[in-house]
Amino acid sequence: MHEQQQGVSLHDIVKRDAKDHHSWNYEDKTGPKHWPEMYKKCGGSRQSPIDILSSEVDLNDELDAFEFDNYDDSLTDAVIENNGHTIQISPGPKDAPRIIDEGGMDDKYQFLQLHFHWGGDSKRGSEHLIDGKSAPMEMHLVHINKNYKTKEKASQKEDGLAVLAVMFKLSNEDNPDLEPIIDKLDDVRNEGDKAEMDDFTLESLLPDDLMPYYRYKGSLTTPPCNEIVTWTIFKNPIPISEKQLQQFRNVKEEDEGEAPESLVDNFRMPQPLHGRVIEISGEGDDSDSNSDSAGNLGPTVVMVLSALSFLL
Ligand SMILES: [Zn+2]
Repeated sequence: MHEQQQGVSLHDIVKRDAKDHHSWNYEDKTGPKHWPEMYKKCGGSRQSPIDILSSEVDLNDELDAFEFDNYDDSLTDAVIENNGHTIQISPGPKDAPRIIDEGGMDDKYQFLQLHFHWGGDSKRGSEHLIDGKSAPMEMHLVHINKNYKTKEKASQKEDGLAVLAVMFKLSNEDNPDLEPIIDKLDDVRNEGDKAEMDDFTLESLLPDDLMPYYRYKGSLTTPPCNEIVTWTIFKNPIPISEKQLQQFRNVKEEDEGEAPESLVDNFRMPQPLHGRVIEISGEGDDSDSNSDSAGNLGPTVVMVLSALSFLL
């Protein structure tokens, strides 16, 4: 009360700076609708996320499969953290760089961090929609262009980041690949909490089939909304159970001056395309893309096998 009467004290200013992330959130006066007033780029013309209409995507055969370097090696030094907006996992200094290459991109990109967006219930949660439909959760693997040495530099380049988005699909079974993360959620329940991860691989968090994928140019989905992201959204989801989603919903955030509440619904609404065309890769299926001779081999083998089974 005393401080309020005196107006904004130095203490308040320092505290506000230190807790800059409270200058935006996902609701009310500092929610997504108001981001453009505070962060000009959030009102730009190539913003993310978007609603992907599958009937309107363009097939681009040059969108080839990704090459993943070190994705199958365990991260042994990673840290998980609750930053008040999401649960984020970053590799530690002892972890070798994880690199993605190809995937229709001109450059190599190095893994920086992964994080999640989820809903208060399973009808919503993802940032990207496919044919107007939400998934209960979406994971973003954020990578920085190897040509740029610092995040500051990359944040000003339109090819600065490549984000791989993995959608989740509700399953009756727990997904064991998520357990290394879910095991740590209790340790990072409160905003600002950090914990060391047990060993896990990035590969274990990717869908089994990475083709096809959607591709478009967009932005960070959080302020300051820089339009620097080459987006990849894998069409195939990975499973998660209701029980596992609930573990994420138990995580807390703290808005200034308020009691901690559940960190849920940390997603932005789909943004206008402004003429952007969304592309889809090929299926990456050898029988489709290989030459005729390979294509003709299939039926021949089947016939020989049929003949053999007949003889047997
Ligand atoms: Zn994200």
